[in-house]
Amino acid sequence: MRGGTVQRRLRMLMVGCPGSGKGTLSARIEKHFGVHFITAGDLLRWHIRHGTELGKQASESIRAGRLMPDTTMMQLVAEKLHDMRETDWILDGFPRTEGQAQLLSEELYAAHCPLSLVVNLKVPESAILQRILQRWTHMPSGRVYNLSFNPPKTPGLDDLTGEPLETREDDNPDTFKKRIDAFHTQTEPMIQHFRALRSPYDESLPLLVDMAGSTSNEIWPKLHQLIRERFPDL
Ligand code: AMP
Repeated sequence: MRGGTVQRRLRMLMVGCPGSGKGTLSARIEKHFGVHFITAGDLLRWHIRHGTELGKQASESIRAGRLMPDTTMMQLVAEKLHDMRETDWILDGFPRTEGQAQLLSEELYAAHCPLSLVVNLKVPESAILQRILQRWTHMPSGRVYNLSFNPPKTPGLDDLTGEPLETREDDNPDTFKKRIDAFHTQTEPMIQHFRALRSPYDESLPLLVDMAGSTSNEIWPKLHQLIRERFPDL
């Protein structure tokens, strides 16, 4: 599409292996560009905290490092997407399988709301286990801190609310290995599928962009520049 009359909407997927910084970087985009994001894992953790039926199922899957069923995840995300159909948004941690990608594409096609960017975070796996062992999370909001790169202002407390931080029960070496295996077998084939697609606003540009680095601080300037170039109105 050409001519400058088309409003470019950021409808972005943040993909990458567990612990690659998807949540941290989505939160930075929200802060700098005012774009809302939905974190699939946080939707599940909300259900766990509130003791719903879905929460019980999610708790088992998360503890085992297993993925939740595709249709369940699509329903959860679709409710949120419906409220955001007129806005820019980022999906963090969804889709994670080829089945979820297919369900999402049907949902977005029906809503006339095409994806306009997929960012694939490439962080060396050797660095990631250490990072998740140093991760502290403010569970109600999903805000994450890293004791080395991004510590809270007061140790153990969330910067905004002053509430206590916790470690996630799946941030341990055994569960992490299963989450990484699920990433290789189920998520990587989906990422390959997105590699073949083009930007809906400029056929000469790929939809998916790889962003490599060892830390979110290293990746952030490149990501910031990419969004400014592709979505100058944000
Ligand atoms: P995350 O917070 O993204 O690391 O996700 C934590 C856990 O929630 C995963 O290990 C899965 O058990 C579950 N989960 C999160 N997102 C999805 C998804 N898109 N599909 C299936 N399960 C998910």
